Amino acid sequence: MLGVYIHIPFCKNICNYCDFCKVYYKTGYVSRYLDSLELEIKTRYNGEDIDTIYIGGGTPSSLSLEELKRLFDIIKIFKLKDNYEFTIECNIESIDEDKLKLFKDNGVNRLSFGVESFSEDILNILGRYHDSEMIFKNIELSKKYFDNINIDLIYGVTNDIEVVKKDIDNFLKLDISHVSCYSLILEENTKLYIDKHKYIDQDIDKIMFDYINDILVKNGYNHYEISNYAKDGMISIHNKNYWLNGYYYGFGLGSVSYIDNYRISNTKNMSKYLNDDYENNREYEDKNTRKENDLILGFRLIDGIDINLFNKKYNDDLLEKDIIKTLINDNKLEIDNGYLKCNYKYIYLLNDILVNIIGSRL
Ligand code: SF4
Repeated sequence: MLGVYIHIPFCKNICNYCDFCKVYYKTGYVSRYLDSLELEIKTRYNGEDIDTIYIGGGTPSSLSLEELKRLFDIIKIFKLKDNYEFTIECNIESIDEDKLKLFKDNGVNRLSFGVESFSEDILNILGRYHDSEMIFKNIELSKKYFDNINIDLIYGVTNDIEVVKKDIDNFLKLDISHVSCYSLILEENTKLYIDKHKYIDQDIDKIMFDYINDILVKNGYNHYEISNYAKDGMISIHNKNYWLNGYYYGFGLGSVSYIDNYRISNTKNMSKYLNDDYENNREYEDKNTRKENDLILGFRLIDGIDINLFNKKYNDDLLEKDIIKTLINDNKLEIDNGYLKCNYKYIYLLNDILVNIIGSRL
């Protein structure tokens, strides 16, 4: 399968925890950016059939109606397969009925909202400018047009487990198909990091993680990736392709592509990008790196890694690797129905397990 990611780096406000590639929204900038984006797509896209498109950011929904129309005109170049998935990321405060209609008319069939929390205190800490009432109102409006909707939630901003309980409770009230729950990461150069915001206690973080899993699964959401939950048939196909280490194009400022075993990174420098000097780095991934990435990404999926597929792809025997044998012996990994997966008891410790795998010979 082949995915397309398109980066729209503009935001009306900069959130306190954000280390994504973004700049403040400025009208003149947007039209110049779309000129460069169009040229990049026309230059690099080879006319292949596309399974998924994902417009992310930044805040794609911060663009005006006219700017969004221009963006969709550019995107018409892609040859989409019949059962394609087309997602656009939105912020709660920058969505209205006209934009939703425009998305629908241009083939978008999935929305992903950066909600993060329903709590006013947490939203203040994170530097987000919506509130709970706006979330309910705009998700309800979106449901008039879309049945595949995700929200992102962030937990572990404070030690207060009650906040997490209320957030999950409110998510369930929205009655939508998908949720991504991430524990707060304090990235360097973010306001929270500079302000010396502290990580919460590890044990409490684990209690929150378990609580979220428990309640969401009890309410009919499948836990299919370490941070992602979906109703039946509603997983993110675009993101699953990343976890399967599949090929995808990335267009726009700071985007990454993975095509024909080349990992290609675009510049994060806006001036360079606007001068159509978009490629920053291109690296060929050898067989060992590809294997490592298949495992690092694949173990994020709760079902794990298709053993036969891996063995065929690399003419190898995954279960014969010393590190894999050790991790199976330690009960950290297990074989289930032809898949090698992380024992659910240890899923919270996945990163530690992956460190062991990366450090070994594959
Ligand atoms: S979190 Fe999203 S909306 Fe906030 S600054 Fe980052 S990209 Fe923009």
